[in-house]
Amino acid sequence: MFGKQPQEKEETKLRQDRSFLTLSLADIFKAKESSSLNFWSEEDKELIKRAFNFAAEFYKNEVRKSGEPYLNHCVFTAINIAKQNMDAESVAAGLLHDTLEDEKADSEKIKKLFGKDILFLIAGVTQLKKIKYQGVERHVESMRKFFIAIAKDIRVVVIRLCDRLHNVSTLEYVREDKRKRIALETLEIHARLADRIGMGKLKAQLEDKSFPYAYPEDYQKVKEMFNSDRNYSEQYLLKVLKKVKEELNFTKIKVLNIDHRLKHLYSLYEKLKKNNWDIQKIYDIVAMRIIVPDIATCYQVLGIIHSLYKPVAGRFKDYIALPKPNGYQSLHTTVFNGMGGTTEVQIRTKDMHEEAEYGIASHLFYKEQAKSKKIKTTKNKIAWTKDLLKMQNHIKDSTKLFENLKREFLDRKIFVHTPKGDVIEFPNGASVIDFAYAVHSDLGQHMAGAMVNGKLSSLDTRLKNGDIIEIIKKENAKPTRKWIEYAFTSQAKRHIKNYLKEHGSVLDRLLSNKISD
Ligand code: MN
Repeated sequence: MFGKQPQEKEETKLRQDRSFLTLSLADIFKAKESSSLNFWSEEDKELIKRAFNFAAEFYKNEVRKSGEPYLNHCVFTAINIAKQNMDAESVAAGLLHDTLEDEKADSEKIKKLFGKDILFLIAGVTQLKKIKYQGVERHVESMRKFFIAIAKDIRVVVIRLCDRLHNVSTLEYVREDKRKRIALETLEIHARLADRIGMGKLKAQLEDKSFPYAYPEDYQKVKEMFNSDRNYSEQYLLKVLKKVKEELNFTKIKVLNIDHRLKHLYSLYEKLKKNNWDIQKIYDIVAMRIIVPDIATCYQVLGIIHSLYKPVAGRFKDYIALPKPNGYQSLHTTVFNGMGGTTEVQIRTKDMHEEAEYGIASHLFYKEQAKSKKIKTTKNKIAWTKDLLKMQNHIKDSTKLFENLKREFLDRKIFVHTPKGDVIEFPNGASVIDFAYAVHSDLGQHMAGAMVNGKLSSLDTRLKNGDIIEIIKKENAKPTRKWIEYAFTSQAKRHIKNYLKEHGSVLDRLLSNKISD
C-alpha cells in the first residue's frame, strides 16, 4: 500500500536532488539491538506495520523544512525508539507521534485503529511538545510536564526523547538563531532526563548531537584534542586487546564480547573542564570493554589482565561491589601497556552492560523470562516515579510543585551509605530523618537517633556526600512537630504529618495542618 504513492514522481525528484535516504519498515525491524530482550513477535510486527502504513499515507504529501519526506522523521524516531530496546507499542506510537499535532488526525480514529494505550502514548507526547522553551517560566512548565509524564507512563518520555534526538540530528536545517536555543535546551532538559532514567546511550547521543550547536568553539577544541589523542591511544589499546584475547582463549574463560569504545565528546568536554583542559589527566578516552556471563568471571578476567599488565596504582575501581550512585556497575582498571602509556579496561556482565546503556528500558519489557532479581531492581528504580505521582496529587500549586520536583528529583546529588554500604541518593539539604524514612517508613516512625560516620548525631543533622548513616530505632520513639522542620523531602514530611494528624495532640493536629509542604 505504501509502496505506491500518488506523489511518487515528485518525491523521486526530491530524493535525486538531495539524495535523501528512503527508509522502510525493514529498517525499523532491524534496529532492535539487544538479543536478551524478546525479538519482535508476529503480533508486534503486525502492529508496527499498520502504524507504518498509516503514517506513510498520512504524510504522503508532506515534507520537512529540509525538503526531506516527513515520513522519514517518523521512521527515524521509531528507529531510535527500537534501538533503545523499547516495546512494539512505543515504536508504533513513535511512528504516529506527530499525527495529533494541530488535531490533524482524529483521536477517536487512532483509538479505533490502534487502541487506547497507543492513543495515550501519542497524546502524552503531543502534550510534552506543546511547550517550547521561552524564558524561565515556560521552562518550569515544560519540566513539570516531563515529570508528570514520567510518573504516568515512562514510555511517553522515552518517545519524546527519541523524537528530540532526530530533531537535534537535523539541526543543520534549522534557522540559525533557533539552533542554539534547541541545542542548549536539549542539554539542559532532555539529556538530563535521559540520564535520570538511566538511559546512558540516549543521553550520550542527545549530548553529542547538541554539543556543536550549543558551544561551537569548545566543540572544535575538544574534537581536535580528541582526535590527536585518540590515534595513538587506540593503536596501543588494540595491541593490548589482541594479547588479552589470546590469553582469554587460552584459559577458556567464557567471554561474551570484547571490544573497545571511545569516550563520547560531550563527556570528554565535561571532564576536560574539571581538569583544567589537561588531556593527560584523562585516562579513558579509549577503553577496552569486556562483557562476560557472570560476576565471578569479571574478577577472573581482572586477575588475568593484572597478571599480564601491571595496574596503575589508585586506578582500580570495583563498581560491582560498590556501585556508583546511579546504579552503574563494572570493574575499571588502568594498566601500563608496556608501550610507554596506559590503557583502561572495563569488565562487566551483560546485565550490567544493558542497565548502563538502556536504564529503565532494559528491564521494562522482560516478559516470561523475567527473573525475580530483575523485577526487584526495576521496582526500586522506578519507585521514585511513584513518589512523583503522589507529590503531584498532594501539591496543587504548580510553581511550588515544580520547585519540589526539581529540588527532589533532578538535583539529587548527596549520596550516602547504609551501614552495609548500599548507596542512597538525596537532594541537597536532606537530613538523617529523610534517610530513615527513605529506608522504611516504620524506621522513620520509630527513630530515636542517628549514628553518622560512627558518631551519635542529632536528628537535625544534614547529610553530606559519603556519610555512613545508621538509624537508632526504639519502639517507644515517635515523631514530633519539630521533625517537620528537620525533614527536607516531601516523602518524610508527608509521613510525619500523617502521623501527627492521626496520633498527635489537638495542638499537633492543628499545627501540622498549617505547615505547608
Ligand atoms: Mn516529531
